Amino acid sequence: MRLILLGAPGSGKGSIADMIQQKYNFPKISTGDLLREAVKRQTEIGIKASAQLGKGKLVDDDIVIALLKERLSQDDCRQGYILDGFPRNVSQAVNLKVINEQKNEIVFFIETSEEVVIKRIMSRLTCSSCGAIYNIYTKPPKNNLVCDVCGGQVGQRQDDKPEVISERIRTYHKDTLPLVAFYESSGHFYRIDGNGTRDEVFAQIEHVLDKAMFRKGPVKDQDSL
Ligand code: AMP
Repeated sequence: MRLILLGAPGSGKGSIADMIQQKYNFPKISTGDLLREAVKRQTEIGIKASAQLGKGKLVDDDIVIALLKERLSQDDCRQGYILDGFPRNVSQAVNLKVINEQKNEIVFFIETSEEVVIKRIMSRLTCSSCGAIYNIYTKPPKNNLVCDVCGGQVGQRQDDKPEVISERIRTYHKDTLPLVAFYESSGHFYRIDGNGTRDEVFAQIEHVLDKAMFRKGPVKDQDSL
């Protein structure tokens, strides 16, 4: 299954992708994580991306698509994957169709109010080594600012700072929201209420995926998912 999570920054895509990965065993692929990793390792792509990352605008399509293509060619993606943060505009969605050889994608659009999104971003902490996501109030790391998963340093991401958040939200409205119209008529598009707790949001996705996996429900063209 090729799963796509659409939603504003702070809509919970990353945490929900983690939960899907854990239950269904598809790898989570976050283009934000891939970019941050490339920058950290100072690869050729990382050097190109570093000037654009962290400012709230989209990194150039050719950079992100090259990273994604390379990641999707790895063995663990053969049975499917969960995309977190890709596509971010219509041109990327068209490119993804080509990479996927026009096979169907299941798209979850996580809808959240602007108030919820801003509150979540402001309270989000991220591990700078493995990308694990925490929340200052509801899910702090157990040991101060040390990552529970890898022991790395946990802190606020550069682009989660207030001065960058409004730019990210503007970019989302301009570039990413048109993807709703792009996917809406595909037959595999699901609107998810993202304002509740992580468990409440995940339950809605689980409902769709369980039906698709066990081939009982209304998901259309299941053989091709
Ligand atoms: P994220 O971790 O998904 O919030 O992404 C962090 C930043 O990485 C974004 O604000 C963009 O600058 C960049 N980025 C991540 N995914 C993409 C993408 N698909 N296209 C362009 N830029 C991206």
